[in-house]
Amino acid sequence: MRALMAAQENAQERLDHLTDLIAEEAGWDVCSIYLARPSQALELCATHGLKPEAVHQVRLRPGEGLVGFVASSVRPMWTANARDHENFSYKPETGEEPFNTFVGVPILRGGRLVGVLTAQTEAERAVADEEIETLQTVAMVLAEIVASGDIAEAEEMAELELRQSKPERFQGSAYSGGLATGVAVVLEPHVGSEHLIAEDTDREIERLDLAIAALRAGIDDMLEGGRIPFGGPTRDVLQAYRMFAHDRGWMNRLREAVQLGVTAEAAVERVRNENRARLMRSNDQLFRERLHDLEDLANRLLRHLDDAQSEIIAHLPDDAIIIARNIGPAELLELDRTKLKGIALEEGAASSHAAIVAKALGIPLVGGIEGALDKTEDGDALIIDGEFGLLHIRPTVDVVETYKERMQALSDRKLAYAELRGPSVTRDGKRIRLSMNAGLLIEMTQLEETGADGVGLFRTEFQFMVADTLPRLDAQATVYKSVLEAAGGKPVVFRTLDLGGDKVAPFAPSTVEPNPALGWRAIRMGLDRPGLLRYQLRALIQASAGQPLHVMFPMIAAPWEMRAARDMLDRELRHAKRRGHDMPVEVKVGMMLETPAMAWAIGEVLDTLDFVAVGANDLMQYFFAADRQNARVAERYDVLSPPALGLFKQIREACATRNVPVSVCGEIAAKPLEAAVLIALGYDSLSMAAANIGPLKKIVSGLDAGKLGTWLASHLNDPVNSLRPALTAAGESAGLPKEAVDNTVKI
Ligand code: PEP
Ligand code: MG
Repeated sequence: MRALMAAQENAQERLDHLTDLIAEEAGWDVCSIYLARPSQALELCATHGLKPEAVHQVRLRPGEGLVGFVASSVRPMWTANARDHENFSYKPETGEEPFNTFVGVPILRGGRLVGVLTAQTEAERAVADEEIETLQTVAMVLAEIVASGDIAEAEEMAELELRQSKPERFQGSAYSGGLATGVAVVLEPHVGSEHLIAEDTDREIERLDLAIAALRAGIDDMLEGGRIPFGGPTRDVLQAYRMFAHDRGWMNRLREAVQLGVTAEAAVERVRNENRARLMRSNDQLFRERLHDLEDLANRLLRHLDDAQSEIIAHLPDDAIIIARNIGPAELLELDRTKLKGIALEEGAASSHAAIVAKALGIPLVGGIEGALDKTEDGDALIIDGEFGLLHIRPTVDVVETYKERMQALSDRKLAYAELRGPSVTRDGKRIRLSMNAGLLIEMTQLEETGADGVGLFRTEFQFMVADTLPRLDAQATVYKSVLEAAGGKPVVFRTLDLGGDKVAPFAPSTVEPNPALGWRAIRMGLDRPGLLRYQLRALIQASAGQPLHVMFPMIAAPWEMRAARDMLDRELRHAKRRGHDMPVEVKVGMMLETPAMAWAIGEVLDTLDFVAVGANDLMQYFFAADRQNARVAERYDVLSPPALGLFKQIREACATRNVPVSVCGEIAAKPLEAAVLIALGYDSLSMAAANIGPLKKIVSGLDAGKLGTWLASHLNDPVNSLRPALTAAGESAGLPKEAVDNTVKI
């Protein structure tokens, strides 16, 4: 077979030779290859032993005859008495009446039925398991031969569905904005045809055993070492994996396949394909889940065996769009940024790290597109729509044209925003500081690109969330130092670890809390287990030697917490000094105002603070008691309601009485109408995702803050649910720019 695969033959000759080879080597009177057409009918494409004139003439409907039966059950079958079988269907043109014994196996590729391989003899006889295994292995190689280049493109096969060709559209969720067109890179272990046939079976068995041992050890390590990766499988699933990884049936099927002469990875793929084919046809939820687990396990095993994945990652084509079940942040960061244009994930979540990293890289990411992997092949044209959460596979010309226009409009807007890189000033001359939020070093390039005034919120927990183990002091200091270097003198406000709640670090013991958002998180964790926070403060001090250090503490809910945090910082500063370390030239300490209680108690701590940052995401979630992660309630209440605006006004005024600078750094800081209102309330510093800076500068430049302030003063006590309708109606007469009212400013 290896020789056959290497031979320079045309498509038909290659299939003909294959049937001859199988028949002669394995002692069958007949061997035939049937391949699937788009209608699902199976066409006889090559045969040894049946009438040659039947080739490309005989077709069987799905379910018709024994061949159709194999296709619809996607399982091998044999019978020593074909004519007596209830599914037998007589096709005189093939001349198959003398052949009594029949065996058929499905030809599967990625779990999809490509055709059926059959063998027949005149003699009535039993077919051994081993013979079926051999045919299955041949079918696997055949699936690769058939889908690869020359056969899929050959004229006589033109109407067969060897590759998928229909356009498909999947609606998922947009986790990182933007648009991209490109070619699919399926990031799922798949064995190319050149790695299918073994040169040395003993060596392959050895490789398989080693890979299984590594797989088992990896699972044990995750389970026992408490190193369950964030966004990865849960403990229950891992326990199921462990069970399967020791399952004798699975192991035996893998070994048997290798014994028949394929490589270890080909054996895993074959068993995975068979499982998947069954999975795709089953409606039993439990059974499906079990098979899903098995498939994941097979993928893990392939990764242990196979360097092909790292090859793919190292050699992305231009305009690559990765499509995968899921992807880890570290894996994502390994991809070549100059070539990666988009990501489509069957799973994923808005707060997943892949999404965070994709946003940081400015790459569109669409998640939740279940089933898309099976419909995609390497090299297919794809469009990722990160605005509406869509994935288009093999799009039609019309769809491509529409997207070309949208992409042009998007890049025009980007250019226009780039022109606005100078300082941000309102129409009535108020200077507004617009800073960016960041969490990864790679985002820092955007500081220059957007002309932001600095980093108003550096979320330090990201480094912890993407790491498998606790980042050591040196590693932390290196990141902070690089961030400061990348900032080139612009201020960077580091927020200390805000773990807990929805932000889980893989190495942290996972405790199940009834209300994680109200639970043991952020500064609460930092003060109760001071080791981590102390180390982080030490790293921050070390990194800012010779420069200013700006640090703030999240989720303060009582003055004593702020005082305790500050004490800890002071202690670390003294510690560094005593040891003769180079010190920061100045230290500015801030508090994140994220709890309503602190809005009332703020007077008690202002004297000890250099600045305040309002974390509006959390402040509003606690103010309205509406979970920010829960789509059902997250949008129920409006920040532009009189009580919420009253709170923002009160905080701003309290800070003003003691001359403490205050900024806002939640999502609302990037929303046109909300930002305009905050500015009119006196906030002159806002921090937001980098992509929002350009659009917001446009809003600021058209805003008459004084006029809007006057309008607000007479409406802040209106008995309405929200001032939004009145603001929108007042529009320019309230000093608002047109774009803030009709929401035409887009990223
Ligand atoms: C906030 O709560 O508004 C905030 C900026 O912090 P995070 O979104 O990281 O909780
Ligand atoms: Mg917060």
